[in-house]
Amino acid sequence: MSELSDSFYKHVAQTSDFPMGLEIDHAEGCHIHTKDGKSYLDLISGIAVSSLGHRHPNVIDAIKKQLDKHLHVMVYGEYIQEPQSRFAQLLTDQLPDSLDRVYFVNSGTEANEGALKLAKKYTGRHKFVAFKNSYHGDTHGSLSVTGRDVYRNPYKPLLPDVHFIDFNDPAGLSMIDEKTAAVIMEPIQGEGGVIPADKEWLKQIRKRCDETGALLIFDEIQTGFFRTGSLFSFQYYDVIPDILSLAKAMGGGMPMGAFVSSSEIFEEFKHNPPLNHVTTFGGHPVCCAAAHANLETLLSGDFSSKAKMIEEMAREILIGDGIDEVRGRGGMIGLQLRDSDLTQKVVDECFKEGIILGWTLHSNSLVRIAPPLIIEQDLLNDALHTIQFAVQKFA
Ligand code: PMP
Repeated sequence: MSELSDSFYKHVAQTSDFPMGLEIDHAEGCHIHTKDGKSYLDLISGIAVSSLGHRHPNVIDAIKKQLDKHLHVMVYGEYIQEPQSRFAQLLTDQLPDSLDRVYFVNSGTEANEGALKLAKKYTGRHKFVAFKNSYHGDTHGSLSVTGRDVYRNPYKPLLPDVHFIDFNDPAGLSMIDEKTAAVIMEPIQGEGGVIPADKEWLKQIRKRCDETGALLIFDEIQTGFFRTGSLFSFQYYDVIPDILSLAKAMGGGMPMGAFVSSSEIFEEFKHNPPLNHVTTFGGHPVCCAAAHANLETLLSGDFSSKAKMIEEMAREILIGDGIDEVRGRGGMIGLQLRDSDLTQKVVDECFKEGIILGWTLHSNSLVRIAPPLIIEQDLLNDALHTIQFAVQKFA
Protein backbone atom coordinates (compact mmCIF):
# COMPACT_ATOMS: atom_id res chain seq x y z
CA MET A 1 0.00 0.00 0.00
CA SER A 2 1.39 3.40 -0.92
CA GLU A 3 1.97 6.09 1.71
CA LEU A 4 -0.89 8.14 0.23
CA SER A 5 -3.36 5.32 0.29
CA ASP A 6 -2.31 4.44 3.82
CA SER A 7 -3.12 8.00 4.91
CA PHE A 8 -6.39 7.89 2.96
CA TYR A 9 -7.60 4.73 4.67
CA LYS A 10 -6.36 5.76 8.12
CA HIS A 11 -7.07 9.47 8.27
CA VAL A 12 -9.60 10.51 5.65
CA ALA A 13 -13.10 9.89 7.04
CA GLN A 14 -14.72 7.11 5.04
CA THR A 15 -18.33 6.89 3.93
CA SER A 16 -18.31 3.16 3.23
CA ASP A 17 -16.15 0.06 3.67
CA PHE A 18 -15.64 -0.17 -0.07
CA PRO A 19 -14.31 3.10 -1.52
CA MET A 20 -13.12 2.90 -5.14
CA GLY A 21 -9.67 3.90 -3.94
CA LEU A 22 -8.28 5.16 -7.28
CA GLU A 23 -5.04 7.03 -6.62
CA ILE A 24 -5.43 10.09 -8.80
CA ASP A 25 -2.51 11.68 -10.55
CA HIS A 26 -4.24 14.07 -12.92
CA ALA A 27 -7.40 14.44 -14.99
CA GLU A 28 -7.84 16.07 -18.36
CA GLY A 29 -10.77 16.12 -20.78
CA CYS A 30 -12.70 12.85 -20.58
CA HIS A 31 -9.94 10.94 -18.79
CA ILE A 32 -8.67 10.38 -15.27
CA HIS A 33 -5.06 9.24 -14.92
CA THR A 34 -3.91 7.31 -11.86
CA LYS A 35 -0.54 7.15 -10.09
CA ASP A 36 0.08 3.62 -11.42
CA GLY A 37 0.08 4.97 -14.98
CA LYS A 38 -3.41 3.80 -15.96
CA SER A 39 -6.08 5.92 -17.67
CA TYR A 40 -9.81 5.70 -17.23
CA LEU A 41 -12.60 7.10 -19.36
CA ASP A 42 -14.82 9.03 -16.96
CA LEU A 43 -18.35 8.17 -18.08
CA ILE A 44 -19.90 9.64 -14.94
CA SER A 45 -18.13 13.06 -14.88
CA GLY A 46 -17.48 12.95 -11.12
CA ILE A 47 -21.25 12.40 -10.82
CA ALA A 48 -22.61 14.91 -13.31
CA VAL A 49 -20.04 17.62 -12.59
CA SER A 50 -17.42 17.78 -15.34
CA SER A 51 -19.72 18.51 -18.27
CA LEU A 52 -16.92 20.31 -20.11
CA GLY A 53 -14.54 17.53 -19.15
CA HIS A 54 -11.78 17.86 -16.59
CA ARG A 55 -9.72 21.07 -16.52
CA HIS A 56 -11.37 22.80 -19.43
CA PRO A 57 -8.84 25.45 -20.59
CA ASN A 58 -11.37 28.31 -20.36
CA VAL A 59 -12.20 27.40 -16.78
CA ILE A 60 -8.54 27.01 -15.81
CA ASP A 61 -7.69 30.34 -17.41
CA ALA A 62 -10.49 32.15 -15.54
CA ILE A 63 -9.38 30.59 -12.24
CA LYS A 64 -5.76 31.64 -12.81
CA LYS A 65 -6.76 35.21 -13.65
CA GLN A 66 -8.90 35.48 -10.52
CA LEU A 67 -6.11 34.03 -8.36
CA ASP A 68 -3.99 37.02 -9.30
CA LYS A 69 -6.70 39.48 -8.23
CA HIS A 70 -8.19 38.35 -4.95
CA LEU A 71 -9.46 35.36 -3.00
CA HIS A 72 -11.96 35.69 -0.15
CA VAL A 73 -12.50 39.28 0.95
CA MET A 74 -15.72 39.38 2.99
CA VAL A 75 -18.72 37.26 3.96
CA TYR A 76 -21.59 36.96 1.50
CA GLY A 77 -23.51 39.93 0.21
CA GLU A 78 -21.43 42.87 1.48
CA TYR A 79 -18.87 43.77 -1.17
CA ILE A 80 -19.30 44.08 -4.91
CA GLN A 81 -17.07 41.36 -6.35
CA GLU A 82 -16.69 41.35 -10.11
CA PRO A 83 -16.85 37.56 -10.70
CA GLN A 84 -20.01 37.27 -8.57
CA SER A 85 -21.92 40.14 -10.20
CA ARG A 86 -20.87 39.12 -13.71
CA PHE A 87 -21.88 35.52 -13.20
CA ALA A 88 -25.23 36.43 -11.61
CA GLN A 89 -25.90 38.63 -14.64
CA LEU A 90 -24.97 35.93 -17.17
CA LEU A 91 -26.99 33.27 -15.37
CA THR A 92 -30.15 35.33 -14.92
CA ASP A 93 -29.90 36.49 -18.57
CA GLN A 94 -30.65 32.85 -19.49
CA LEU A 95 -33.63 32.56 -17.14
CA PRO A 96 -37.25 33.78 -17.16
CA ASP A 97 -37.94 37.21 -15.59
CA SER A 98 -39.30 35.59 -12.44
CA LEU A 99 -35.90 33.98 -11.73
CA ASP A 100 -33.87 37.16 -11.53
CA ARG A 101 -31.99 36.83 -8.21
CA VAL A 102 -29.24 34.38 -7.35
CA TYR A 103 -28.05 33.44 -3.89
CA PHE A 104 -24.66 31.72 -4.16
CA VAL A 105 -23.67 28.84 -1.89
CA ASN A 106 -20.97 26.16 -1.91
CA SER A 107 -22.84 22.93 -2.65
CA GLY A 108 -26.09 21.31 -3.70
CA THR A 109 -27.37 20.51 -0.28
CA GLU A 110 -26.77 24.11 0.81
CA ALA A 111 -28.75 25.33 -2.18
CA ASN A 112 -31.71 23.22 -1.05
CA GLU A 113 -31.33 24.31 2.57
CA GLY A 114 -31.58 27.92 1.41
CA ALA A 115 -34.52 27.14 -0.87
CA LEU A 116 -36.47 25.48 1.95
CA LYS A 117 -35.79 28.35 4.35
CA LEU A 118 -36.75 30.92 1.74
CA ALA A 119 -40.04 29.13 1.05
CA LYS A 120 -40.87 29.02 4.77
CA LYS A 121 -40.07 32.68 5.26
CA TYR A 122 -41.97 33.86 2.18
CA THR A 123 -45.14 31.81 2.73
CA GLY A 124 -45.16 31.84 6.54
CA ARG A 125 -45.91 28.09 6.31
CA HIS A 126 -43.80 25.07 7.24
CA LYS A 127 -45.33 22.05 5.53
CA PHE A 128 -43.35 20.51 2.67
CA VAL A 129 -44.40 18.04 0.02
CA ALA A 130 -41.60 15.89 -1.41
CA PHE A 131 -41.31 12.64 -3.36
CA LYS A 132 -40.58 9.02 -2.61
CA ASN A 133 -37.11 8.04 -3.83
CA SER A 134 -35.99 11.65 -4.15
CA TYR A 135 -32.54 12.84 -3.15
CA HIS A 136 -31.81 16.43 -2.12
CA GLY A 137 -28.62 16.21 -0.05
CA ASP A 138 -27.32 15.08 3.31
CA THR A 139 -27.60 18.07 5.64
CA HIS A 140 -30.59 18.00 7.96
CA GLY A 141 -33.04 20.11 5.92
CA SER A 142 -32.25 18.42 2.61
CA LEU A 143 -32.30 14.99 4.25
CA SER A 144 -35.73 15.83 5.68
CA VAL A 145 -37.14 16.08 2.15
CA THR A 146 -35.16 13.10 0.79
CA GLY A 147 -37.56 10.23 0.18
CA ARG A 148 -35.73 7.16 1.37
CA ASP A 149 -36.13 5.93 4.94
CA VAL A 150 -32.92 3.94 5.08
CA TYR A 151 -30.96 7.23 4.93
CA ARG A 152 -33.41 9.22 7.07
CA ASN A 153 -34.09 6.88 9.96
CA PRO A 154 -30.73 7.13 11.76
CA TYR A 155 -31.07 10.92 11.92
CA LYS A 156 -34.63 11.36 13.12
CA PRO A 157 -36.12 13.61 14.32
CA LEU A 158 -35.82 15.58 11.11
CA LEU A 159 -37.95 18.53 9.96
CA PRO A 160 -41.60 17.90 10.88
CA ASP A 161 -44.54 18.14 8.47
CA VAL A 162 -42.81 16.70 5.41
CA HIS A 163 -45.08 14.51 3.28
CA PHE A 164 -43.83 12.10 0.64
CA ILE A 165 -45.98 11.33 -2.37
CA ASP A 166 -45.43 9.04 -5.35
CA PHE A 167 -43.51 10.40 -8.32
CA ASN A 168 -45.54 10.64 -11.54
CA ASP A 169 -48.80 9.85 -9.73
CA PRO A 170 -51.55 12.50 -9.79
CA ALA A 171 -53.21 10.83 -6.79
CA GLY A 172 -50.85 12.61 -4.39
CA LEU A 173 -51.59 16.12 -5.60
CA SER A 174 -54.27 16.69 -2.97
CA MET A 175 -51.46 16.62 -0.39
CA ILE A 176 -50.47 20.05 -1.73
CA ASP A 177 -52.77 22.44 0.12
CA GLU A 178 -53.07 25.93 1.68
CA LYS A 179 -50.71 24.88 4.50
CA THR A 180 -47.92 23.89 2.13
CA ALA A 181 -44.85 26.13 2.01
CA ALA A 182 -43.37 24.34 -0.97
CA VAL A 183 -43.18 21.26 -3.13
CA ILE A 184 -39.57 20.22 -3.71
CA MET A 185 -38.69 17.91 -6.57
CA GLU A 186 -36.16 16.83 -9.16
CA PRO A 187 -37.66 17.07 -12.68
CA ILE A 188 -35.68 13.90 -13.38
CA GLN A 189 -35.00 11.88 -10.26
CA GLY A 190 -31.29 11.07 -10.25
CA GLU A 191 -30.40 8.94 -7.25
CA GLY A 192 -33.90 7.44 -7.40
CA GLY A 193 -32.91 5.67 -10.62
CA VAL A 194 -32.92 8.28 -13.43
CA ILE A 195 -36.69 8.68 -13.63
CA PRO A 196 -38.02 11.55 -15.75
CA ALA A 197 -41.23 13.29 -14.64
CA ASP A 198 -44.22 13.10 -16.99
CA LYS A 199 -44.76 16.43 -18.68
CA GLU A 200 -48.49 16.62 -17.99
CA TRP A 201 -48.09 15.60 -14.36
CA LEU A 202 -45.51 18.32 -13.83
CA LYS A 203 -47.91 20.89 -15.23
CA GLN A 204 -50.57 19.64 -12.81
CA ILE A 205 -48.17 20.15 -9.92
CA ARG A 206 -47.48 23.72 -11.07
CA LYS A 207 -51.24 24.35 -11.28
CA ARG A 208 -51.88 22.90 -7.83
CA CYS A 209 -49.10 25.09 -6.36
CA ASP A 210 -50.64 28.16 -7.99
CA GLU A 211 -54.07 27.29 -6.59
CA THR A 212 -52.81 26.80 -3.05
CA GLY A 213 -50.04 29.41 -2.84
CA ALA A 214 -47.37 26.76 -2.32
CA LEU A 215 -44.01 27.48 -3.93
CA LEU A 216 -42.52 25.04 -6.41
CA ILE A 217 -38.83 24.24 -5.91
CA PHE A 218 -37.01 22.46 -8.73
CA ASP A 219 -33.82 20.77 -7.66
CA GLU A 220 -31.82 20.90 -10.90
CA ILE A 221 -28.55 20.17 -9.16
CA GLN A 222 -28.02 17.12 -11.32
CA THR A 223 -30.11 18.00 -14.38
CA GLY A 224 -28.79 21.53 -14.95
CA PHE A 225 -26.27 23.02 -17.38
CA PHE A 226 -27.25 21.00 -20.49
CA ARG A 227 -26.96 17.62 -18.77
CA THR A 228 -30.43 16.66 -20.05
CA GLY A 229 -30.30 18.49 -23.38
CA SER A 230 -31.63 21.93 -22.46
CA LEU A 231 -29.73 24.40 -20.28
CA PHE A 232 -32.18 23.50 -17.50
CA SER A 233 -34.73 20.74 -17.69
CA PHE A 234 -37.59 23.03 -16.62
CA GLN A 235 -37.22 24.59 -20.09
CA TYR A 236 -37.96 21.22 -21.69
CA TYR A 237 -40.94 20.71 -19.37
CA ASP A 238 -42.14 24.25 -19.97
CA VAL A 239 -42.87 24.65 -16.26
CA ILE A 240 -41.22 27.53 -14.39
CA PRO A 241 -40.39 26.89 -10.74
CA ASP A 242 -40.54 29.59 -8.05
CA ILE A 243 -37.12 28.54 -6.76
CA LEU A 244 -34.39 26.76 -8.72
CA SER A 245 -31.57 24.90 -6.93
CA LEU A 246 -28.28 24.48 -8.77
CA ALA A 247 -24.82 23.01 -8.13
CA LYS A 248 -22.66 20.17 -9.52
CA ALA A 249 -21.80 21.18 -13.13
CA MET A 250 -22.29 24.85 -12.29
CA GLY A 251 -18.69 25.51 -11.19
CA GLY A 252 -16.91 23.68 -14.01
CA GLY A 253 -15.23 21.51 -11.36
CA MET A 254 -15.15 24.09 -8.57
CA PRO A 255 -17.48 23.84 -5.53
CA MET A 256 -20.43 26.04 -6.32
CA GLY A 257 -24.16 26.05 -5.78
CA ALA A 258 -27.01 28.53 -5.89
CA PHE A 259 -30.71 28.95 -5.37
CA VAL A 260 -32.43 31.30 -7.75
CA SER A 261 -35.78 33.01 -7.32
CA SER A 262 -37.54 36.34 -7.81
CA SER A 263 -36.57 39.67 -6.29
CA GLU A 264 -39.94 39.71 -4.53
CA ILE A 265 -39.41 36.37 -2.81
CA PHE A 266 -35.81 37.21 -1.90
CA GLU A 267 -36.95 40.44 -0.16
CA GLU A 268 -37.79 38.12 2.75
CA PHE A 269 -34.13 37.42 3.41
CA LYS A 270 -33.39 41.09 4.13
CA HIS A 271 -35.81 41.67 7.00
CA ASN A 272 -37.11 40.23 10.27
CA PRO A 273 -34.26 39.94 11.13
CA PRO A 274 -31.74 41.43 8.71
CA LEU A 275 -28.95 39.01 7.77
CA ASN A 276 -31.16 36.00 8.47
CA HIS A 277 -29.40 33.79 5.93
CA VAL A 278 -25.68 34.37 5.55
CA THR A 279 -22.64 32.39 4.45
CA THR A 280 -18.93 33.07 4.69
CA PHE A 281 -17.75 31.45 1.48
CA GLY A 282 -20.87 31.30 -0.73
CA GLY A 283 -20.13 32.99 -4.06
CA HIS A 284 -16.37 32.63 -3.66
CA PRO A 285 -14.70 34.78 -6.33
CA VAL A 286 -12.60 31.95 -7.76
CA CYS A 287 -15.63 29.66 -8.00
CA CYS A 288 -17.72 32.42 -9.60
CA ALA A 289 -14.97 33.13 -12.14
CA ALA A 290 -14.83 29.42 -12.97
CA ALA A 291 -18.64 29.20 -13.17
CA HIS A 292 -18.79 32.19 -15.49
CA ALA A 293 -16.23 30.69 -17.88
CA ASN A 294 -18.00 27.33 -17.64
CA LEU A 295 -21.41 28.78 -18.55
CA GLU A 296 -20.00 31.03 -21.28
CA THR A 297 -18.31 28.00 -22.85
CA LEU A 298 -21.44 25.85 -22.54
CA LEU A 299 -23.51 28.59 -24.21
CA SER A 300 -21.04 28.97 -27.06
CA GLY A 301 -21.19 25.30 -28.08
CA ASP A 302 -23.95 23.01 -29.22
CA PHE A 303 -24.20 20.98 -26.04
CA SER A 304 -27.87 20.43 -26.52
CA SER A 305 -27.10 18.29 -29.60
CA LYS A 306 -24.24 16.60 -27.77
CA ALA A 307 -26.56 15.55 -24.94
CA LYS A 308 -29.11 14.27 -27.46
CA MET A 309 -26.39 12.32 -29.28
CA ILE A 310 -25.47 10.58 -26.01
CA GLU A 311 -29.08 9.54 -25.43
CA GLU A 312 -29.61 8.35 -29.00
CA MET A 313 -26.42 6.28 -29.04
CA ALA A 314 -27.16 4.78 -25.63
CA ARG A 315 -30.65 3.77 -26.74
CA GLU A 316 -29.32 2.33 -30.00
CA ILE A 317 -26.36 0.36 -28.64
CA LEU A 318 -27.47 -0.76 -25.20
CA ILE A 319 -30.06 -3.40 -26.01
CA GLY A 320 -30.58 -7.10 -25.51
CA ASP A 321 -30.57 -9.74 -22.79
CA GLY A 322 -29.99 -8.47 -19.28
CA ILE A 323 -30.94 -4.87 -20.12
CA ASP A 324 -34.49 -4.17 -18.99
CA GLU A 325 -34.61 -0.49 -19.90
CA VAL A 326 -32.57 2.53 -20.97
CA ARG A 327 -34.01 5.61 -19.23
CA GLY A 328 -33.30 9.29 -18.95
CA ARG A 329 -32.86 12.34 -21.10
CA GLY A 330 -29.83 13.65 -22.93
CA GLY A 331 -26.59 12.91 -21.15
CA MET A 332 -28.27 11.58 -18.00
CA ILE A 333 -28.85 7.92 -18.68
CA GLY A 334 -29.91 5.05 -16.45
CA LEU A 335 -29.33 1.51 -17.61
CA GLN A 336 -31.72 -0.75 -15.78
CA LEU A 337 -30.14 -4.19 -15.61
CA ARG A 338 -31.76 -7.47 -14.65
CA ASP A 339 -30.41 -7.54 -11.10
CA SER A 340 -27.73 -6.23 -8.76
CA ASP A 341 -25.38 -9.17 -9.39
CA LEU A 342 -25.25 -8.45 -13.12
CA THR A 343 -24.84 -4.73 -12.40
CA GLN A 344 -21.81 -5.35 -10.18
CA LYS A 345 -20.21 -7.62 -12.77
CA VAL A 346 -20.76 -5.11 -15.58
CA VAL A 347 -19.38 -2.22 -13.54
CA ASP A 348 -16.31 -4.32 -12.53
CA GLU A 349 -15.68 -5.54 -16.08
CA CYS A 350 -15.89 -2.03 -17.53
CA PHE A 351 -13.56 -0.77 -14.81
CA LYS A 352 -11.02 -3.44 -15.85
CA GLU A 353 -11.42 -2.14 -19.40
CA GLY A 354 -10.68 1.41 -18.19
CA ILE A 355 -14.22 2.82 -18.07
CA ILE A 356 -15.74 4.38 -14.96
CA LEU A 357 -19.49 3.92 -14.68
CA GLY A 358 -21.78 5.31 -12.02
CA TRP A 359 -24.26 3.90 -9.57
CA THR A 360 -27.21 5.52 -7.80
CA LEU A 361 -27.93 5.75 -4.08
CA HIS A 362 -31.43 4.31 -4.19
CA SER A 363 -31.13 1.54 -6.77
CA ASN A 364 -28.53 -1.25 -6.93
CA SER A 365 -29.45 -2.67 -10.32
CA LEU A 366 -29.02 0.56 -12.24
CA VAL A 367 -25.89 1.72 -14.03
CA ARG A 368 -25.76 5.48 -14.38
CA ILE A 369 -23.99 7.19 -17.25
CA ALA A 370 -23.36 10.92 -17.41
CA PRO A 371 -20.40 11.40 -19.78
CA PRO A 372 -18.63 14.72 -20.18
CA LEU A 373 -20.69 16.52 -22.82
CA ILE A 374 -17.51 17.15 -24.81
CA ILE A 375 -17.09 13.44 -25.51
CA GLU A 376 -16.31 12.55 -29.12
CA GLN A 377 -18.74 10.26 -30.90
CA ASP A 378 -16.12 7.54 -31.61
CA LEU A 379 -14.95 7.41 -28.02
CA LEU A 380 -18.52 7.15 -26.77
CA ASN A 381 -19.35 4.54 -29.38
CA ASP A 382 -16.45 2.33 -28.24
CA ALA A 383 -17.32 2.80 -24.59
CA LEU A 384 -20.99 1.93 -25.07
CA HIS A 385 -20.00 -1.18 -27.00
CA THR A 386 -17.68 -2.19 -24.15
CA ILE A 387 -20.65 -1.89 -21.77
CA GLN A 388 -22.80 -3.87 -24.16
CA PHE A 389 -20.17 -6.66 -24.43
CA ALA A 390 -19.90 -6.77 -20.64
CA VAL A 391 -23.67 -7.17 -20.29
CA GLN A 392 -23.69 -9.93 -22.93
CA LYS A 393 -20.79 -11.69 -21.24
CA PHE A 394 -22.57 -11.98 -17.87
CA ALA A 395 -26.28 -11.91 -18.77
N1 PMP B 1 -29.81 17.28 -5.18
C1 PMP B 1 -29.58 16.39 -6.15
C2 PMP B 1 -30.66 16.13 -7.17
C3 PMP B 1 -28.38 15.71 -6.22
O1 PMP B 1 -28.16 14.81 -7.19
C4 PMP B 1 -27.38 15.98 -5.25
C5 PMP B 1 -26.05 15.25 -5.26
N2 PMP B 1 -26.08 13.96 -5.72
C6 PMP B 1 -27.65 16.92 -4.25
C7 PMP B 1 -28.88 17.55 -4.25
C8 PMP B 1 -26.64 17.26 -3.20
O2 PMP B 1 -25.58 17.96 -3.74
P1 PMP B 1 -24.21 18.10 -2.92
O3 PMP B 1 -23.59 16.74 -2.90
O4 PMP B 1 -23.40 19.11 -3.70
O5 PMP B 1 -24.55 18.59 -1.57
